[in-house]
Amino acid sequence: MTKHYDQIIIGAGITGASIAFELSKKGYKPLVVDKLPAAGLGSTSSTCAIIRTHYSTLEGTAVAYESSFYWKNWAAYLNKKNSKNLARFIQTGAVVLNKKDFDWSKYIKHHDALKIPYEIWTPDQLLKRMPHFVDDSFFPPKRPDDPGFFNPPVEKISPVVLFFPNNGYINDPQLSVENIQQASEVNGATFMFDSEVAEIRKHANRVDGITLKSGQALDAPVVVNASGPHSFVINRLAGIDKKMKIKTRALRHEVHFVPSPERFSYEDEGITVGDGDLAGYHRPEVGNIILVGSEDPDCDKLDWVDDPDHFNRTVTNAQWRAQVYRLALRIPDLPIPNRPKGFADLYDVSDDWIPIYDKSDLDGFYLAIGTSGNQYKNGPVIGQIMARIIEACENGHDHDLEPVTIGLKHTGFNLNTGFFSRNRDIVGDSSFSVLG
Ligand SMILES: Cc1cc2nc3c(=O)[nH]c(=O)nc-3n(C[C@H](O)[C@H](O)[C@H](O)COP(=O)(O)OP(=O)(O)OC[C@H]3O[C@@H](n4cnc5c(N)ncnc54)[C@H](O)[C@@H]3O)c2cc1C
Repeated sequence: MTKHYDQIIIGAGITGASIAFELSKKGYKPLVVDKLPAAGLGSTSSTCAIIRTHYSTLEGTAVAYESSFYWKNWAAYLNKKNSKNLARFIQTGAVVLNKKDFDWSKYIKHHDALKIPYEIWTPDQLLKRMPHFVDDSFFPPKRPDDPGFFNPPVEKISPVVLFFPNNGYINDPQLSVENIQQASEVNGATFMFDSEVAEIRKHANRVDGITLKSGQALDAPVVVNASGPHSFVINRLAGIDKKMKIKTRALRHEVHFVPSPERFSYEDEGITVGDGDLAGYHRPEVGNIILVGSEDPDCDKLDWVDDPDHFNRTVTNAQWRAQVYRLALRIPDLPIPNRPKGFADLYDVSDDWIPIYDKSDLDGFYLAIGTSGNQYKNGPVIGQIMARIIEACENGHDHDLEPVTIGLKHTGFNLNTGFFSRNRDIVGDSSFSVLG
């Protein structure tokens, strides 16, 4: 017998779980299906889980700041009485430095508008806080095989260094999704694992449900694509991939681990660092090591992946050298192990690196995709945005004509969710990078 649900959400990552949680809080009984054996095992398990607010758009900044309140009060968000077995927000603060003539005005304007605390440091203050750093500029970032890579620097970084005291990271992102799963189940949501969606069933331009690879059919009037880097595959199954202006595709990204330098303990004193001058970021990781990521500088070829089920999950020597050697320019006594250590996973990148949270041209089929390497932190608010859009559209509202707006509880920001439309013009203010 075919089972019926209020909604079916494809994907049990941070996005799908957060949507299920918000729908279940409204009294609905959603089903979340995932082809993996547990929640949060997709690209969410590889996230660096950095919680920061410096986005290039006001909307991006507002959503990130609003979400940070939920991460900081995680037990309350989940409606739990204590913090036992819950993911934790580690408030390290985040420092952002950049090349000499970088224009900071956007970040400052958005933070002022939303009354988000920040500090303006000088490079000397940065060196006091991070005495293992140098304040030289190495811009533009290069690869170690570039003959100019080891040239002595002649410039200094921007005299303005931004510090965001409220930023940090989540210690265990997979556990955070399990936490949301359990909270949703308490409200009546169901999670089904080892279940691959093979078909989106529809008739007369209305979604009917899904069929799993096993042949099992599951029905719902609403199906949500929250399948992360598989988003374009699921859109193709639904037959809507050619009916939206903004497209998504999968981009492979490497993250590396290196030990903390001897004279500075990242475990005890480390902060999260966005180094725009070298187009990299790093943060402390458990075990006094440093997690090293990249902001994809022009010198690094982007590694687009056509089949998100088959890609190289092992780090490559060349990319390890590029990311870790660049960090060693900023931290001259960085210990560099002989063997690369790290992992690779996929971003689900939209054309302008801004996510799509929207309905689609197939009635009842919704999109929470294009998270572009920077939306883990926004999970709690994505859930709210999607639940509101779904409820409004299912009650007959024309979201394309008059996009749903949401008053964000903690920031008071009135969010026009049309910003995340599948049919928007490219957002020109975007950084067109993982910075969003
Ligand atoms: C290396 C890396 C570092 C990052 N760092 C940060 C960071 O510091 N801060 C930040 O905010 N964001 C960061 N991100 C981005 C963040 O991790 C993602 O935006 C977020 O995790 C995406 O979550 P999701 O739930 O949309 O996708 P996923 O977690 O990938 O979940 C999608 C799920 O859909 C399932 N699925 C796919 N196809 C099917 C199918 N046919 N049937 C059933 N199930 C299916 C998959 O199995 C998967 O579990 C990073 C991402 C990566 C890869």
